[in-house]
Amino acid sequence: MLLFIRSTVNGSYWGIMNQLEYYLECVDCGIKYQSIEVLYICKKCEGLLDIKYDYEKIAEKISVKTWQNRPFTLWRYREIFPVEDYSNIITLNEGGTSLQKCERLEKILNLGNICVKNEGENPTGSFKDRGMTVGITKAIELGFHTVACASTGNTSASLAAYAARAGLRSIVLIPSGKIALGKLTQAIIHGAHIVQIKGNFDEALRAVFQLTQSNPNIYLLNSVNPYRIEGQKSIAYEIYTQLGNAPDNILLPVGNAGNISAIWKGFVELQKLDLITNLPHMIGIQAENAAPIVTAFKKRRENIRPTLHPETIATAIRIGSPISWKKALNAVYDSKGFMEKVTDDEIISAQQLLARQEGIFVEPASAASIAGLKKIVDMNLIEKDDKTVCIVTGHGLKDPDIVIKTSNLNLIEIDPLQDSIANALEQKTIAMERSL
Ligand SMILES: [Zn+2]
Repeated sequence: MLLFIRSTVNGSYWGIMNQLEYYLECVDCGIKYQSIEVLYICKKCEGLLDIKYDYEKIAEKISVKTWQNRPFTLWRYREIFPVEDYSNIITLNEGGTSLQKCERLEKILNLGNICVKNEGENPTGSFKDRGMTVGITKAIELGFHTVACASTGNTSASLAAYAARAGLRSIVLIPSGKIALGKLTQAIIHGAHIVQIKGNFDEALRAVFQLTQSNPNIYLLNSVNPYRIEGQKSIAYEIYTQLGNAPDNILLPVGNAGNISAIWKGFVELQKLDLITNLPHMIGIQAENAAPIVTAFKKRRENIRPTLHPETIATAIRIGSPISWKKALNAVYDSKGFMEKVTDDEIISAQQLLARQEGIFVEPASAASIAGLKKIVDMNLIEKDDKTVCIVTGHGLKDPDIVIKTSNLNLIEIDPLQDSIANALEQKTIAMERSL
């Protein structure tokens, strides 16, 4: 890992958030960084950094009634984000996504309570917008004019859109030939400077570290950035608002592993603020051939062993060396959750199931949470009456090619003046039933 530190852009200042102090803390050695340097990892041990708050002061400041009177977007909960001045935020009205009760899925899986948090409803079609609104706002506060990330696709789409909104230059590094069409299209139309890297996401991430280290005027906005990851904890605040408490289980796909720890942090904060009485089990799902955290969890290892050649149809979680693996494992252990892996076939079946039974179209990585739920039901690892929320992270239109490739598309063309549409439909129905 490259050490990646530099001094502040606008001189040093203390982290004062709405007149509340906060600081950075290393998740490995516990060192605290009181002043806000442009710092991504610990100076001493290169561990990941987490932002810590004085929750007693936050509790004095927040009011559920105030929250209820604001629009249902991420910034409804503005007091819990480390932003200096709310009037200067960069936003596209992200967050406020729906929590859909899935009664047909409940019947199929014989479970009492399943909801899907549909993150495809965010402005660029994925949960990444939550982190990006905070990350880009921070970039502006710190005086940057250029932002960069490595991406399997969704982060680059979000970075490009929010950078455009803020008037910043954006650079995205993507793995060559391995990015879904919809995501690439978004990065292009928002004007990002796109560089393809020969190699996978892990190599693109190393390259963007090097780029930002040798060019300290570029702000890194991958999930290693502790401010970006703060935005993603808003998923927990919204689920609390929508359910009135925390659910028993949260299932979500795990790629670079920032989201699972961010959502867990959100629930822990809600408990510290006396807003919820229980905490959910965090259940992370990886793709079978990109599952280093699952392996570490099942073998009770303290460290992951990276997958050198990760491979899965779910490109958003095609990551062999997740940067936030330690935070993710901490979230799983602390919440008494677990990790499981699913095959590409299980992912595609789950994608079709959710689309055909519930009308919710998600990209393959998102379907991993549904595939994981099906698997753990089969393994009797979940109580029938548990409240379970599956996070589906990105919209299905992000990756249309995969649907065409996996759907046995057999279009029948007829001449409506000569042929019977009823006959054609009957043939089509038979063909569809055979394919199921
Ligand atoms: Zn450290």
